[in-house]
Amino acid sequence: MKYYSSFRSLQQDLRQGTTSCLAMVDYYLNRIENHTHLNAFLDVYADDARTQASRVDAKLAAGTAGKLAGMVIGIKDLLCYADHGVQGGSKILNGFVSQFTATAVQRLLDADAVIIGRQNCDEFGMGSSNENSAFGPVRNAFDESRVPGGSSGGSAVAVQADLCFASIGTDTGGSVRQPAAFCGVVGLKPTYSRVSRWGLLAYASSFDTIGPITRCVEDAALILEVMAGADEQDSTVSQTPVPAYSEKLTSGGLRKIGYFRESIDSEGVDESVKAVLRQTIERLQAEGHTLVPIDFPLAHYYLPTYYILTTAEVSSNLSRYDGVRYGYRSPQAVDLDSLYRLSRTEGLGSEARKRILLGTFVLSANYYDAYYTKAQRVRRLIKEEIERHFQEVDFILYPTTPSVAFPLGEKSSDPLKEFLADIFTVQANLTGTPAISLPLGKDRQGLPVGIQVIAPAFGEEQLLAFAKSLEGITEPQLTM
Ligand code: GLN
Repeated sequence: MKYYSSFRSLQQDLRQGTTSCLAMVDYYLNRIENHTHLNAFLDVYADDARTQASRVDAKLAAGTAGKLAGMVIGIKDLLCYADHGVQGGSKILNGFVSQFTATAVQRLLDADAVIIGRQNCDEFGMGSSNENSAFGPVRNAFDESRVPGGSSGGSAVAVQADLCFASIGTDTGGSVRQPAAFCGVVGLKPTYSRVSRWGLLAYASSFDTIGPITRCVEDAALILEVMAGADEQDSTVSQTPVPAYSEKLTSGGLRKIGYFRESIDSEGVDESVKAVLRQTIERLQAEGHTLVPIDFPLAHYYLPTYYILTTAEVSSNLSRYDGVRYGYRSPQAVDLDSLYRLSRTEGLGSEARKRILLGTFVLSANYYDAYYTKAQRVRRLIKEEIERHFQEVDFILYPTTPSVAFPLGEKSSDPLKEFLADIFTVQANLTGTPAISLPLGKDRQGLPVGIQVIAPAFGEEQLLAFAKSLEGITEPQLTM
């Protein structure tokens, strides 16, 4: 099967009949089977996917097919798909089957996409390396001794290794963009509230977003326009109309772009990452754009604020996994108290337990104001800081991650090191702004480097058009 670098090129072949949706599904099923060592998929829906593909082929022949006809998509194991398992990468949801379909997933299905399976991730989205999954780590297909990033690690590797056409991940603090950067693919985090969260297993509800991981910007734009928009089931979702992003990808002329000065000066950022950022800046300058260095004096507060607020929210959101209502129940329990205690201790992994304890602490009566209330205030200041910058510049540019993909096990023993990997991604989640990670270079060993572009809230249309004008320095890469 030939490699399609965009959905548009696949659509041409589908129209001409040189391939079919069923042929695509069979191709991916075969590739998934030959790459099980990457551990990207937790469940593969072979029969369902083939049935759906035949239906789509009939629609293609009849000329009634939807926008995503022929697109074979994998979904992160945090998104509900009725009558299919969902576990959030956790043992505590063992055997749990979705009762309904997430709005985002339903809209993909309604547009005639095919869902091929669910993808491995860090437990309930907590992690940056996919080493916190109850189902074992995912491996980066470029170098299997390295992490794929997280928490949507399985979703990024599935696109990187051509195990499906595109993936749907979730981004609470970088989990779409960071693995996309480590795997050399495109990852888009939409504005908070752009896509309904109905049917997404909650991690930190005021941060969680659903976003596509794709091989090119145009595909990300297309998937976003299908998933986004008002939904009766989620009262927090925006009513703002959804533009046809994929049809508006022509660049808006010369722009003023800020770049995060510290990301180019800091010793904590790999030389190879800085080099790719510098090259990107020089290229944009050469094209006539105005590039200005900008500072974020509050940057040192991003990670503490993020980890106080998200642990608070996760301790509340995960309280529903009590051993009574869903999934795993400890066989050792003798009374109600031990039922809760043992089911949660045995059912949740160490990272989830650690964050629940931290969150319970910051929400406790004696510390609530000192931590939770204060962090809420700092979050507001961080939001105001970025809004001030966006009065001056159209976009902000900086690396997605301070390093390339690191070796498995390197950071799992040092939580602080792992948290630092999120330094450049959490800003967009604290402020609700949209951000995209683009594979714009490589280090000396050939490992991908991701560069991030951030736009003002609901600026996806401009963001995607600008991102499209930037892509193409490196070709999407396929591993064998
Ligand atoms: N690595 C971050 C965390 O562990 C981000 C996770 C995410 O975006 N889901 O919280």
